[in-house]
Amino acid sequence: MSWFNRIIVSILPWFPKQFVWIFSKRYIAGKTIEDAIQQSKVLNKLGCRVTLDVLGEDITTLQEAEEEKKECLRVLQAIHDSGIDGSLSVKLTSIGLIIDKETCYQHVRDIVQRAKELDNFVRIDMEDVTTTDDTLDIYRRLRKDFDNMGTVVQAYLKRTPEDVQALIDIGLSNLRLCKGIYDESPEVAFKDKDKIRDQFVEIVYMNLKSSSYSGIATHDKGVISRSLVMLEQQNIPKDQYEFQMLLGVTEKLRQQLVGDGHGMRVYVPYGVHWFGYCMRRMKENPMLVGHIIKNLFVRG
Ligand SMILES: Cc1cc2nc3c(=O)[nH]c(=O)nc-3n(C[C@H](O)[C@H](O)[C@H](O)COP(=O)(O)OP(=O)(O)OC[C@H]3O[C@@H](n4cnc5c(N)ncnc54)[C@H](O)[C@@H]3O)c2cc1C
Repeated sequence: MSWFNRIIVSILPWFPKQFVWIFSKRYIAGKTIEDAIQQSKVLNKLGCRVTLDVLGEDITTLQEAEEEKKECLRVLQAIHDSGIDGSLSVKLTSIGLIIDKETCYQHVRDIVQRAKELDNFVRIDMEDVTTTDDTLDIYRRLRKDFDNMGTVVQAYLKRTPEDVQALIDIGLSNLRLCKGIYDESPEVAFKDKDKIRDQFVEIVYMNLKSSSYSGIATHDKGVISRSLVMLEQQNIPKDQYEFQMLLGVTEKLRQQLVGDGHGMRVYVPYGVHWFGYCMRRMKENPMLVGHIIKNLFVRG
């Protein structure tokens, strides 16, 4: 399947955008904040919280970083005004991490500060491994002043159990735990799927045991089942964890978990840069093309 996915990825940019949109719209709320809020209202009615994500292109100037920050502030205001049950996810590279770390720090600080004023929460997404240290560094610095934020760790990175333990040790382990989506080298990341699953379950266990908040972000039935057993065996209270899924993915499983009384948050990306986002995601992980094609035919 993988060669087929790679061929599709390489030819998709040559298709009209409207055609690619047919493949992608299930995973993207739309182009505007209003679209994202509308989608969030539907999800709230289904018993799911949301986290909104502004889709950014790779930015190259501090002016663009400033614009992205302003959009994040508008999202926080829109969440507040609409009354939806939702928070914000932000990628540090979209607000300047690679151009100037201190400017990025100030931007994310402004965002978290505004979220605090609006009684909301910001999660810093985790990107490729070249940004891991800086992301964790900025997160630790901000957590000295703010408690309304968390970050993400990736189960495929070999370093992750150590990172989680270090955050637990300093009491800052409000984490979304996921497998990781970037195409990393075998020097830094496990490639074996079972090894990644085992490490995922291990870090969920570490975080839950430490009484830290855990967002268990996966659609993998095996990892979810093992997490459910752990939650029950450890008698973890419902307000110490939630499951998290991407918009449009495994909706039946999502609603089963909601029906069983587990907290669920859906990641809702939106924005005019949806095309670049989809292309990047597919290049990073051509398997996604397989999922997308499958989802055109098999729902739920
Ligand atoms: C809420 C949330 C936030 C995330 N944040 C980050 C982040 O900050 N940094 C990061 O690196 N990664 C992030 N990810 C992505 C994550 O790392 C994985 O790449 C992604 O979730 C797929 O891994 P999986 O655990 O679902 O397992 P997989 O083995 O990839 O998927 C399990 C099953 O889910 C279904 N499935 C998975 N993806 C799709 C899809 N796109 N379409 C249709 N079906 C699908 C398939 O049936 C598949 O067999 C996030 C994921 C979620 C859910």
